[in-house]
Amino acid sequence: MTKKEQIYEGKAKKVFATEDPELLIVSYKDDATAFNGLKKGTIAGKGVINNKMSNMLMRRLAKAGIPTHYVEELSDRETLVKKVSIVPLEVIIRNIAAGSFSKRYGVKEGFVFERPTIEFSYKNDELGDPLINEYHALAIKLATEEEIETIKKYAFAINEQLKSFWAECGVTLVDFKLEFGRLSDGTIILADEISPDTCRFWDSKTGEKLDKDRFRRDLGGVEEAYEEVMKRILEHK
Ligand code: ADP
Ligand code: UDP
Repeated sequence: MTKKEQIYEGKAKKVFATEDPELLIVSYKDDATAFNGLKKGTIAGKGVINNKMSNMLMRRLAKAGIPTHYVEELSDRETLVKKVSIVPLEVIIRNIAAGSFSKRYGVKEGFVFERPTIEFSYKNDELGDPLINEYHALAIKLATEEEIETIKKYAFAINEQLKSFWAECGVTLVDFKLEFGRLSDGTIILADEISPDTCRFWDSKTGEKLDKDRFRRDLGGVEEAYEEVMKRILEHK
């Protein structure tokens, strides 16, 4: 598939058109940002790891019946995906309290929930991705009621799949962010990426953080953490 013009450059990826109007090429960068772009840096090798990890996880999800944008890995950093119109909601699933949840509700990081939770943020950089509830999302027409129901169903199903896969890799899946989009016929599919940029991973034995929190919180060993979670996947049988 021939790469055509760049149509978007985001914080972590570039997006290119292809000769097929229904397909895009995403190219993963080593750039890292946090706190809505206030903190900037690079994580050497991150683009390659996020590309390969996201593709691997999406292939697993597809086998479990969850429709995704993944089509084909083209190179270390580039993947062919189905073009969608992104539903402007960041969908966050949590199994354990951490990050903004802990801060907002005064709950200690590490508090394990009996049931996973879901929340939405309005994907809007100018507004700083504010938390939004379903009624508000419907009111401003970010998605239809039916789309929100589909997204919730997929998001919890993805959590079950990923939680058990990561457990087999010795990694606890604490929380993660998903993005969904609409194909030209309106079908909702999983898009964007699933990686240490968008998930919290804790080593199941030691509790060590193996994700972007090492960058956000200046914990050091950032590259090593990304490499370690990738290694766990590659060693998984
Ligand atoms: P951001 O826009 O938050 O800086 P990225 O650097 O990851 O994020 O840029 C990738 C962009 O591509 C995101 O805005 C994401 O919503 C969008 N995107 C991801 N998958 C698809 C897809 N299959 N079709 C269209 N857009 C997509
Ligand atoms: N997350 C993300 N992109 C965002 C915000 C959050 O990928 O713009 C992920 C984050 O990596 C974590 C989960 O969503 O795995 C929950 O993040 P939280 O709301 O706790 O926010 P944070 O503490 O990252 O500000």
